Amino acid sequence: MTMPVNNWGRLPHAAQNRRPARAHSPLDFKHALDGAPTLLPHGMGRSYGDVGLNPDGTLLQMTARDHIISFDKDSGILRARSGLTLDALLRVSVPQGWFIPVSPGSKFVTLGGAIANDVHGKNHHKDGSFGAHVLALSLVRSDRAPMVCTPTKNKKMFALTIGGLGLTGIIDWVELKLKPIKSAYLDVENIPYRSLDEFFKLSADSADWPYNVAWVDCFAPQSKLGRGIFTRARFSDYGGLSPHDSETKFRWPFPTPAFLLNRFTIGLFNTLYRIRPGARYKGRAHYDPYFYPLDSIADWNKLYGRKGFYQHQCLIPQDCAQDGIREMLSIIKHSGQGSFLAVLKHHGTEPSPGVMSFCNIGPGVSLALDFANKGEKTRALLTKLDDCVARHGGRNYIAKDAHMSGKFFQDSYPDWSTLEAARDPKIMSSFWQRVIETPSQNSTPKAPAS
Ligand SMILES: Cc1cc2nc3c(=O)[nH]c(=O)nc-3n(C[C@H](O)[C@H](O)[C@H](O)COP(=O)(O)OP(=O)(O)OC[C@H]3O[C@@H](n4cnc5c(N)ncnc54)[C@H](O)[C@@H]3O)c2cc1C
Repeated sequence: MTMPVNNWGRLPHAAQNRRPARAHSPLDFKHALDGAPTLLPHGMGRSYGDVGLNPDGTLLQMTARDHIISFDKDSGILRARSGLTLDALLRVSVPQGWFIPVSPGSKFVTLGGAIANDVHGKNHHKDGSFGAHVLALSLVRSDRAPMVCTPTKNKKMFALTIGGLGLTGIIDWVELKLKPIKSAYLDVENIPYRSLDEFFKLSADSADWPYNVAWVDCFAPQSKLGRGIFTRARFSDYGGLSPHDSETKFRWPFPTPAFLLNRFTIGLFNTLYRIRPGARYKGRAHYDPYFYPLDSIADWNKLYGRKGFYQHQCLIPQDCAQDGIREMLSIIKHSGQGSFLAVLKHHGTEPSPGVMSFCNIGPGVSLALDFANKGEKTRALLTKLDDCVARHGGRNYIAKDAHMSGKFFQDSYPDWSTLEAARDPKIMSSFWQRVIETPSQNSTPKAPAS
């Protein structure tokens, strides 16, 4: 079955072979390859860039393999096939008093995708990334028998698979420890703040709160650079254990025409986003609007029009974070290309077992940004931002990247060659091809077709 598959940023439109993995029979690598030279496991396609694409081979759609194998309601230990989404998991676990230990900003991601990118959430400063809560996983490779990997057994492959971008093999099942909750609701405080300095102070003062994040106004005047709304939250003791609704409230109907996507629209969207019911709330919010505000608008990625959009997320080490983030916000301001969803957060010291994990550079601050694709103008801005991140000793998040140069990648992820040595020879992705085949290239990689 050949059908066009997009990344979440809707940048390249490569027609490729997407083949559903068989739901129940044992995973068979050769069958999955379907005669193609390589394959790449595929989850919900929520990665923004090209890490989840493989136009020269097969995409193995894992979502049919989504059943829970075992769930111990006393210990919170769950074993499930890797195609299970957080959406489905939470509907089962929340009524039993268990939540995902680390959650990204969308529940429409699979366990396999969460491990392959070693996703992080608003509680990184307390609990680290997803991989820190994985007890075991099973891996199916083309060149050996299926293997079970844990922090002590096949530990090198375990460490390379967490944050391993799907390159070490197909993750078949996953065992992880969930987090106990007494309520499906969180006690939330939203605090408007006026400058970057205030963000750093608020973040330090809120270090005891489990969930912290800030939304930044990229259109603020230079004197108020970095202003935004700081949100801190913790699970409540009250409100009951009702899971989220399965219905999506609104579907973005079609790609937004370019003329509508101007500064005014983005500013308006930004304002509306902030005054959504959960945002003004000082009190209790259900986990669904709190953790997953964008999930309530299906296909919201069409907001950016037919040319799609780039995400840029970097992590800058603590010592350089204030200078680096200030410079980045200045660069964006002067570029005239605002980001309607700019998110700032502190990362903590909890190490990930993942050798290639984005978060594994120690404590720091991450900044996530969205930019409508305006061709060369946007790519020039991204290059400037990358230069700034590199000068401040940081790195970019691969799950969101569609642009960084091979040189920046290799310099900022020095263990890339260990992953390349452990890569299954029959697995490849567009991202990997782009960044390892251009080792000394200092310029922008070839722009994806829009
Ligand atoms: C609205 C939104 C908010 C987000 N917020 C965050 C956030 O806060 N923090 C964060 O870290 N990320 C965030 N993300 C990114 C997202 O969490 C990751 O990109 C995640 O990996 C997507 O999972 P997926 O199931 O869609 O995987 P895909 O995007 O389909 O694939 C991602 C990678 O996982 C690999 N993979 C998938 N399944 C398997 C498997 N079974 N075995 C081996 N490899 C596999 C693929 O090969 C690919 O390399 C967000 C994304 C969206 C759309």
